Formats: sequence, structure tokens, C-alpha cells
Amino acid sequence: MRKCQWLMISLMLVLLAGCGYQAQAKIQAVASFSIIADLVAQVGGDKVEVKSIIPFGGDPHHWEATSREAISIAKADILFYNGLGLETWIEKLVDSAGTSSLRKVVLSQGLIPLPGVSHDHHDHQGGDPHFWHDVDHVKHYVKIISRELTELDPGNQEYYERRAQAYLEELTKLDNWLVEQISMIPVENRKFISYHASFNYLAHRYGLEVIGHIVTNPDSEPSARDLGVLASVLNKHNRKVIFIEPQAANQLRLAEVLASEVGGKVYTLYSDSLSSEAPTYLDMMYHNGKTLLEALK
Ligand SMILES: [Zn+2]
Repeated sequence: MRKCQWLMISLMLVLLAGCGYQAQAKIQAVASFSIIADLVAQVGGDKVEVKSIIPFGGDPHHWEATSREAISIAKADILFYNGLGLETWIEKLVDSAGTSSLRKVVLSQGLIPLPGVSHDHHDHQGGDPHFWHDVDHVKHYVKIISRELTELDPGNQEYYERRAQAYLEELTKLDNWLVEQISMIPVENRKFISYHASFNYLAHRYGLEVIGHIVTNPDSEPSARDLGVLASVLNKHNRKVIFIEPQAANQLRLAEVLASEVGGKVYTLYSDSLSSEAPTYLDMMYHNGKTLLEALK
């Protein structure tokens, strides 16, 4: 009898250990910033645990990586990042994590970039890295994510493909909706000034024109002369609106100075980060579409 009890207990322990192992067997993924982390989570569902290196509100162009991030990379199975020179800090971080088995996936691979804006630090690797403002490009990211997760975890191929397919359908809806929103803006008003050079793909895909940036390089503040040039651009525009981006510090003051000079208004567009108000890529893009229409119609 006693022997039988012990057998039961050991069997339960084995089963519990088995369950514990299952829980830990989720793919450990790391993404460079919040938008990419969301895309990985949309495809990976409960089979993938994804961490974003840069938290909500952080700026992917600049990041002082710490040993904590090196540790999460060292423990990860796979790292997803945008590439094309956006995350200038990532190679150093991966080196400092000292892991050789990590799978590194550049999501912008295979896309043809728009040119970077001159004097912008973005263009040093030959193009504008902000692909995700064109929904078609995000579909490309999602397909790569699905393929990579399947290669790591072929037993769940059907699961990843089903989730990717459902999300691609959501993206098609978003894309059509954006086209519709922009079509309601009078053609002569489809121009805007953004904080930094992050909306070229949005403009290119949906028929808008970016007529200026508050900063040409997120590393430096604009001069009084730069602001004067922007003020004269705004003065000629039907809608004196300026868009700021929540991830960059100092910009609200600059935008307000500029807006007060021309009697204009300041709106927020999400560019390089999610936030608690827009916690997913879809939320961010729906917010941006609504805001563009409200500001420019
Ligand atoms: Zn940017």
C-alpha cells in the first residue's frame, strides 16, 4: 500500500515537472521595440513569450542598453528587429549578450526602401527604415514572423499560420480604412509637418505629402532659423497643424512655439512606439488615421 502511495506521488511529481517544462517550452522571443513586439505577439499567441527591449514610449533610434537587456537576449531563442539602421545599438547589445545560438531576424529584409531624408542620421545605410507606416510592409513583417516561428517550432505550424492569416485580414481592413479616411481629406490639404522623418511611407502609400519636419535629426534641436522656415511653410498651408510623436522628449515645447507663431494646432501621431493609449499596432494606426482626418479635413 505504502509503496503504491509513493509510486503515485512520484508519478504526480513527474507529471507536474512535465507541465512545468511545457510552460517553459514557449518560444522566448525578444523584439527591439514595442511595435515589433506586438506583431510577434499577434502571430505567436500563447506559444511565444515576447519581450520588447525598448518599453512603451521609448525611442528606437536611441537606446542605452543595459546588462539586463543583454541577459534577456542571452536567454532568448529569437530576436526580431527592424533593421536598415534604425536600431543602431542592437549589434553591440547582441555582442555583449555573447550568445551564438540566437536567431536574428531583420524584418525589413527584401523591402525596397524610400530614400532617407538628407542630413538625417537614418540614411546612413541607404534608406528610410520606418516601413511600418505602410500596412503592406507590415504584412511582409508578419509573414516573416510566421515563417520564423514555424521554423523554430514546426509542431505548431498550423497555429502560427492560422493566427498570421487572421491578423493579415485585420491588416487588410486597416489598409482599406486608411485609404477611405484619407480620401475624405480635400486634396489640397493632404500635406503635413511631422516631428521627425517617420511618415514617408504613410505619405507615399496613402497619398499625403510631408512638407517639413520639426527636426531633421532626432539627435539635435532645430535652430531659430529652422523654425522660421517651418512657420513660413505653415503660413501658406490651409491647415496650420503640427504633429508630434509621444516618444521624443522636448518636442511639445518646440511644436507649441511653432504653433503659437502661426496660430496653429498641435496633434499627436504615433510613429516609433506604442503607448498605454495605443497599446497595439492596430490601435496606433487607427488613431493616426482618425487624427489625420480630424486635423486636415
Ligand atoms: Zn523614427
